[in-house]
Amino acid sequence: MTATTKDKKKTAGKVYVETFGCQMNKSDSEHMLGLLDEIGYSQTADLKSADLMILNTCAIREGAEDKVYSYLGAWRKVKDSREGALIAVGGCVAQDAGEAMIKRAPYVDIVFGTHNLHRLPDLVVKARDEGRRVVEVFQELPEDLPELPVIRQSDFSAWVSVIYGCDYNCTYCIVPYVRGREKSRTPEEIMEEVEELAGAGYKEVTFLGQNVTAYGHDLDPATNLGELIRLAGRFEPIKRIRFITGHPRDLQDAIIDAVKEVASACEYFHIPIQAGDDRTLRRMARGHDVDAYRRVVERIRDRIPDAAITSDLIVGFPGETENEFMNTVRLVEEICFDSCNTAAYSPRPHTPSANWPDQLPEEEKYERLRFLNTVVSEVSHRRNKRYLGKTVEVLVEGQSERNPERLTGRTRTNKLVNFEGPESLRGTLVDVEITSANPWALRGALRGALRGALRGALNSDQ
Ligand code: SAM
Ligand code: SF4
Repeated sequence: MTATTKDKKKTAGKVYVETFGCQMNKSDSEHMLGLLDEIGYSQTADLKSADLMILNTCAIREGAEDKVYSYLGAWRKVKDSREGALIAVGGCVAQDAGEAMIKRAPYVDIVFGTHNLHRLPDLVVKARDEGRRVVEVFQELPEDLPELPVIRQSDFSAWVSVIYGCDYNCTYCIVPYVRGREKSRTPEEIMEEVEELAGAGYKEVTFLGQNVTAYGHDLDPATNLGELIRLAGRFEPIKRIRFITGHPRDLQDAIIDAVKEVASACEYFHIPIQAGDDRTLRRMARGHDVDAYRRVVERIRDRIPDAAITSDLIVGFPGETENEFMNTVRLVEEICFDSCNTAAYSPRPHTPSANWPDQLPEEEKYERLRFLNTVVSEVSHRRNKRYLGKTVEVLVEGQSERNPERLTGRTRTNKLVNFEGPESLRGTLVDVEITSANPWALRGALRGALRGALRGALNSDQ
């Protein structure tokens, strides 16, 4: 790169990205930063100093969508106070709204969807240099998926998208509408990325997909997530391999066996069931019943008894009776989930259940949600207590936000662990002895030599 182009690149400005929603969105935001870096935008954490503000949106529930417009209202003031500043909106709400977003928020400069991330630099240049509003939303991903540059927010743990979209049509879910049909990346492309990450010192990779357990069925030759885990397991510097989010119907033995046999594959399965009642599951069009889910759990626990199993649950689905709701509560007790993401049903556009007449009142949904959350916490607490007195391997994420004196990190089973130690341990794997447990996290103390060294260092400081 010549000095002139480098200088030119540096002058484009600063970009601030706010991300709502799932890990897929977080990963997309890292690609947006990579793409914009190529045209000279550097990342800032300070909204007020941004020349380009990007909101990467989530449409999964109405609340998340409302948040988009309340953020945009606040950003408008920042835009007015900074000459030439641009507002861009991407992600699932933008994909769905397209032009309508500009009608509702006319101060937005760029609207782009989930299928045309790669076009972001062109759209920004157009809006900036030609001073006009730009709306571009593709209905599908391009046939040949372009490789996107990336600026990762962590230097030890990386997201790697392996499959886009979802072929299911759960009657409550907007994802197939805004993310399109399943499309897997090739194992070769993915392994190139993993090899690069291993070379750059990354310790953890998380394979991402709305339905990651379906990975590879659409490729020729077809493959599966188990094979992908085995390939990634060959990169010795990568100590942890994870994947989210799975669907119970697609969790084949090939995947569970790979987790059992590949040393770096983490014993953690996030397998949403959504409801613990057969009639509700049928009406949700999940394609499995409660017994089928029980068998999935059995297959995991038979092979990997200590695996953590977590789920997503929706309460207050249209027509859900009190007894059907209680079946979900009973299932949480029975399966003894490590934790669950719970949500009150939210009617979404383009989904069949949004138009069903038997919608439940909001108060009823939230009362059920509160009750379920109490049970989920009790069960999680029980599950977490089994770690008491054990020593676990923790990948240190950094200082705890709540208490900067402490470090925080995760076990292989994705449990949050807080403990005392120096910030220099960030990004390393340490052994921690668990001394207490609550429903959401574990507390512990560094083990052995490390603890001795830490004590020595603290004493010599005094
Ligand atoms: N593919 C995953 C599966 O099959 O369960 C789920 C991915 S979805 C992005 C994440 C979670 O959002 C779902 O598991 C579900 O619990 C929740 N969700 C989706 N639509 C919802 C709705 N209309 N109301 C409430 N929660 C919803
Ligand atoms: Fe949505 Fe998951 Fe169902 Fe796909 S499988 S439609 S992402 S809940």
